[in-house]
Amino acid sequence: MKFGTKAIHAGQQPDPSTGAIMTPIYQTSTYVQESPGVHKGYAYARGKNPTRTALEHCLAALENAKHGLCFSSGMGAADAVIKLLRPGDEVIATDDLYGGTYRMFTKIFAHYGIVFHFIDMHDLQKVESLVNSKTKMLWLETPTNPMMKIIDIVSLVGIAKKHQLLTMVDNTFASPYLQNPLDMGADIVMHSATKYLGGHSDVVMGALMVNDDKLFEQLAFIANSCGATPGPMDSFLVLRGLKTLHLRMKAHCENGKAVAEFLLSHPKVGKVYWPGFPNHPNHEVAKKQMRDFGGMISFTLKSDSFEEASKLAQALKVFSLAESLGGVESLVGHPASMTHASIPKEEREKTGLVDSLLRLSVGVEDKEDLVSDIKQALDKI
Ligand SMILES: *Cc1c(COP(=O)(O)O)cnc(C)c1O
Repeated sequence: MKFGTKAIHAGQQPDPSTGAIMTPIYQTSTYVQESPGVHKGYAYARGKNPTRTALEHCLAALENAKHGLCFSSGMGAADAVIKLLRPGDEVIATDDLYGGTYRMFTKIFAHYGIVFHFIDMHDLQKVESLVNSKTKMLWLETPTNPMMKIIDIVSLVGIAKKHQLLTMVDNTFASPYLQNPLDMGADIVMHSATKYLGGHSDVVMGALMVNDDKLFEQLAFIANSCGATPGPMDSFLVLRGLKTLHLRMKAHCENGKAVAEFLLSHPKVGKVYWPGFPNHPNHEVAKKQMRDFGGMISFTLKSDSFEEASKLAQALKVFSLAESLGGVESLVGHPASMTHASIPKEEREKTGLVDSLLRLSVGVEDKEDLVSDIKQALDKI
């Protein structure tokens, strides 16, 4: 089956008791047993719920994975992955990492004796030089946030396989429509389903997809033991969102291209970070591992003025000033004062995250309206 058909049908059958075409929201905490210990695979809803099971099968199908596992948030999913490790184990991670993941590694798991290295993963030799007998995992994120760097998944999987490390890819920014890391040899794919998978800014959820049976059992054991599993209503919302994932992603990519090209042509705009431009430093890798370039764009102002960037963000009318991404509505964020405010100015500027950097999550509105909204806002600064 192809992607769109899987997005609509995978893991789902009409409800056997009524014929309802939509998977019911099984709002229950427990299930009646025929005799002690004899049941239909469902005993208690922290472990399993039929609405969640349908979603997990659908998500697995979209990432060409054997298994899917849902969590109450993206961070809940990331937390479960790190719990595969033991004190003393080491992880090598992308340096331009999602802020919440960085915070969890450095402020929570570092205290449990797990060691994290953050590095620019374009330098493969440098990555390999950090590997030692304690190293257990490579943690990749691509495209990165907010600098839109592209990490070469296949090359890093090569290093991981040579040293018997697990490769884990946070695929939130690309979505399974644009990129399938398991097909490139990765062991675990993670999603914040809050973003493109849910797609309507109405639910917080996370997911993991794997092929290996043993790894799946370990992760499912952690999920049930630690308890960050999602409820049936949220599972339903993501299941419903997925049915238009392919249509939304097509529109995100088309609108992203139009907005990126407009920004590049504007005299007040400085740099535009979007992997679809032929002069993006990792354009060739993006072309190789992604099917299209997505709707996430960052850009700076020539003036590099914090005040002007802030004024621009407020002057936008169709784009709303908010954190998050991947919904149908267009959003703008100012990383220096919002998501990355806790990073010292000197540190963030080293990676290109300057005062005037704005990040756009281009939605699926009509692209002419998006472009003219940005134009009128740029005219005001
Ligand atoms: C949002 C996000 C997360 C965290 O997911 P939540 O659902 O907010 O817990 C992790 N990684 C990336 C890339 C994200 O954008």
